[in-house]
Amino acid sequence: MKVKFWGTRGSIATPQPEHVRYGGDTSCVEVRTSDKGTLLILDGGTGIRRLGIDLFQDKSWNRKGHILLSHAHWDHIQGIPFFGPAFDPKNDFTFYGQFKVDGRLEDVLRGQMEYNYFPVRLGDMGAGMKFVELVEQTITIDDVAVTTCHLPHPQGCFGYRIDDGQAVLVYMTDNELEPAGLSEKHISLARDADLLIFDTMYTEEEFARKRGWGHSTWRVGIELAERAGAKQLCMFHHSPDYDDGKMDDLLSLARKHFPNVMAATRDLEVELHGEGSGAKQPQKAPRKKDEVSADYTIKEDSKKILGVIAAASVDKFKSEKFRNTVLGAMHSGLRAVYVDLDALPEIDSLALGTLATFIDKARDLDVHVCVKDPSPLVKEVLLITRFDQVVEFVSSKGDVPPKKRTKAKSKG
Ligand SMILES: [Zn+2]
Ligand SMILES: [Zn+2]
Repeated sequence: MKVKFWGTRGSIATPQPEHVRYGGDTSCVEVRTSDKGTLLILDGGTGIRRLGIDLFQDKSWNRKGHILLSHAHWDHIQGIPFFGPAFDPKNDFTFYGQFKVDGRLEDVLRGQMEYNYFPVRLGDMGAGMKFVELVEQTITIDDVAVTTCHLPHPQGCFGYRIDDGQAVLVYMTDNELEPAGLSEKHISLARDADLLIFDTMYTEEEFARKRGWGHSTWRVGIELAERAGAKQLCMFHHSPDYDDGKMDDLLSLARKHFPNVMAATRDLEVELHGEGSGAKQPQKAPRKKDEVSADYTIKEDSKKILGVIAAASVDKFKSEKFRNTVLGAMHSGLRAVYVDLDALPEIDSLALGTLATFIDKARDLDVHVCVKDPSPLVKEVLLITRFDQVVEFVSSKGDVPPKKRTKAKSKG
C-alpha cells in the first residue's frame, strides 16, 4: 500500500515558508492499494488541489477515485472545489461520509459551493459523483476493506481503517481522546496497524487550555499505538501555530517515549508492506464475515417490483452480503422496491443505515420505495431523515402504487 501526504495541517492552511517542511496544506492523504492500485483519498482539504494536478499526469490511473471524508469541517473539504479531476466528465468519484440525521452528505458538499460562496456549483463540476453515507460498519471498496468508527469531535468525525489484505492504514484525524478515555472501539480500529495517522495537534499545556475543542496530543497517540500494537505512529493535523522548528522539537520529544513515531511532512510518501503485522494476531484482517443464509428473499416479479423480504435476524439485515445483493438487484426499470420488515424482530442504527442505502439508491434511480410494517422507530427515523418523501409505508403488497413516482429531487 502506498500512502502520500498532500495535506498535513490542521484547521487552516499555512502557506508561510517556516511551515513548508511539515506542510501548509490542510488534510488530504492519497492511498493506493497493494494489488490493484485502487485510489482512495482521505479528506479533501486544500492538499487535494495538488493531488488533482498529479492525477492529470498519471496515465495508469483508471479515472475512478473514492473520497473518504472524516467530517465536513472546512479544513477537510475546502480543496474539493479546486480538485481538477472532478471537472472531467470521464472521471468518476464516490464520496463517503457519516450518515447524519440532520443533513445529507451531498447537501453538505453542495452547501460550500452555493452561489454566495463560489461561482461553480457541485453539480456543474462534470465528473460522475456518487455519495455514500455510512454508519459504523465495514464496507468493501474494490479490493479494500474499509472500517469506520466515530471519534469524539465537535459535530462528530469518522476514523477509517483501510485494509487491503497486505497492509493496514488507520486514519484518525480530528479527535479529542485522553489515555483514560481510549475505548476498546478505538483500540480495535487501530489494532496492529502498519501506520496509524493520528491527530496530535496539541501539546499537553495547550490541551489543558483547549479541552472540548476536539483535538489530541502526541502522548495519547503513543498510548493508543502501544495499546493497539500499531507499528508506526504518524503525527498529523499539525497546529497552524507551530512552525517547522517547533514541530522538530515535538517530534523528538515524542520519539523519546515511542521510537516508532514519525510526523507527516509535505509530500511525504510511505510504502506499507505489512511485514510481521500478523505476528501478534494471526488474523490481522478484520474483514467482516458474512454468515448470511438464504432465509431472506430478494426477487423481482413480472410487474417489475423488487421484493425484499427481511430475514428474522438483524445481523443478516445489516450484513454486507445482503446490502450488496439488494443494491445489485436495483435498477431504473423497476416500478418499485418493496421492503418487508415484518420478520425483523428489532432494528438498530446499522440496520437503519442499510435501509437508508436502499432508499438512497432508489431515490437516485427514481424508483418508488414501499416499506411494509415498519416499527414506530423506523417510521420516525425515516421522517426525521426526510426519506419519507420517497418512501411509502404499507401494510400489504397490494398497496404498491401502479407507476413510478415523479421526480421529487433534482440531481446536482
Ligand atoms: Zn480538522
Ligand atoms: Zn474538525
